[in-house]
Amino acid sequence: MEFLTEEVVYCPYCGEAIEVLVDPQEAGQQYIEDCQVCCKPITFDVAVDSMGNLSVSVRDENETY
Ligand SMILES: [Zn+2]
Repeated sequence: MEFLTEEVVYCPYCGEAIEVLVDPQEAGQQYIEDCQVCCKPITFDVAVDSMGNLSVSVRDENETY
């Protein structure tokens, strides 16, 4: 499975729906991208489950684990 997957996430700041393309090779990584609407930095977490499905979760920059 090496195709880019399109996922829809919602900005943690303004709630805008954002389409992101995730690369299966990015699983387990995270990156930061500014929201196109409110320009705040969103942290994207790319994860893969046991079935091999990619998922993306977002959180705001100040949130901690
Ligand atoms: Zn936003």
